Amino acid sequence: MTKAGAIRNAHGWFETNSGWAPPDAETLAEWEADGVSRCPDECLVAPDAWCEHGLASWSLILAALEG
Ligand SMILES: [Zn+2]
Repeated sequence: MTKAGAIRNAHGWFETNSGWAPPDAETLAEWEADGVSRCPDECLVAPDAWCEHGLASWSLILAALEG
């Protein structure tokens, strides 16, 4: 698994799941201040990692969207 692969997995997950929403900037900053992040499926991971289900953290997903 690579970061790019995990981000692709997350976008695939978005297409087949509903009820998710990206964290706002303040929430994301709080997570990262604690050295953690969350995945779209709520798994707790390191900011630059992905969960056991192969989904990238919101930190990775949002950073990729910002380019
Ligand atoms: Zn997960």
